[in-house]
Amino acid sequence: MDEKGNSVKQYDVYSLVTAFPDELLSGYPKVLIHDESEDQWYMFSNVAEDSIRQMIDTAEKNGFLKVISKVVNTHFHGDHVNGNQEFMKSEFISTVWTRDLLSDMGEVNIDLMQQNTQKLITSLNHVRSQERDPHILTEIDYDLSVQRTLYDAIPSLRRVTPTITFEDKLVIQGTKRTIEVLSYGGGHSLSDAVVYVPGEQTLIAGDLISTKTIPVMPYGNPYAWIRILKRIQKDLKVNTIVPGHGDVSNSDRITDVIRFLEETIAYVSKAVTSGKSESYWLEQGVLKGYEDWHLPQYFRWNFRWLFNSMLVQNNR
Ligand SMILES: [Zn+2]
Repeated sequence: MDEKGNSVKQYDVYSLVTAFPDELLSGYPKVLIHDESEDQWYMFSNVAEDSIRQMIDTAEKNGFLKVISKVVNTHFHGDHVNGNQEFMKSEFISTVWTRDLLSDMGEVNIDLMQQNTQKLITSLNHVRSQERDPHILTEIDYDLSVQRTLYDAIPSLRRVTPTITFEDKLVIQGTKRTIEVLSYGGGHSLSDAVVYVPGEQTLIAGDLISTKTIPVMPYGNPYAWIRILKRIQKDLKVNTIVPGHGDVSNSDRITDVIRFLEETIAYVSKAVTSGKSESYWLEQGVLKGYEDWHLPQYFRWNFRWLFNSMLVQNNR
């Protein structure tokens, strides 16, 4: 569908569905995979609940939505599971780890989640008031609109725990094509999965790969992340990447993320041994070469997390 949700482009295996203005949807996965032979849909959940509902409505009106039978949660982060309750008729698939994490999180605590989202909104507003760079201001405004939409949606969120789990590989065999759900462990989060469509050389990457968007590193394992990406490069033939954030692209985005992670690790190591304070380094802004990427405000978060992790490591 185009931006107005009028026309339909149906690709052989998957359809890009962009029924909303780019500024609303940018940064969110926008993909439905259609297995014609099985008449089944595979979809990636995200936070924009109303967007999903409208997306499904539009697809239905255009007469090509049958049943979304399987939903893959690539990892446990809110922006990838908060839409789960929109697919109550679907079966959910994730790694065992991700299932356990979601199950341990228990029911959605509406008050707590709203408090935390409000804290994030307040802190984004604070950062915004001190920022002058037009690109960063635009990105913060986008982030704020997402967080406000989330805040309003919180009372309607329900935790859904996946019922189909796997360790490292799950193959869904249709009569015409095969879909592989794969996990090489955790890098971006404690456990990350990707979906690979070998016949189309297409990789739906979750947050392991983003397009020109600062990858979120806290509580992941950047060293393992690099190893995972190098293994994907070695093992899988990939022409098309559907990233967790940013535009659909090609395999060059894998190299981008590896380079970003390697350079960030090197930069933060240098900062740790420099003897200069954390605040000195935070004032230096986004790592050189990545200033034009989306979500530059999250570079600070990456820096602080890695800087303090390395300090702890060095003091052992
Ligand atoms: Zn994530």
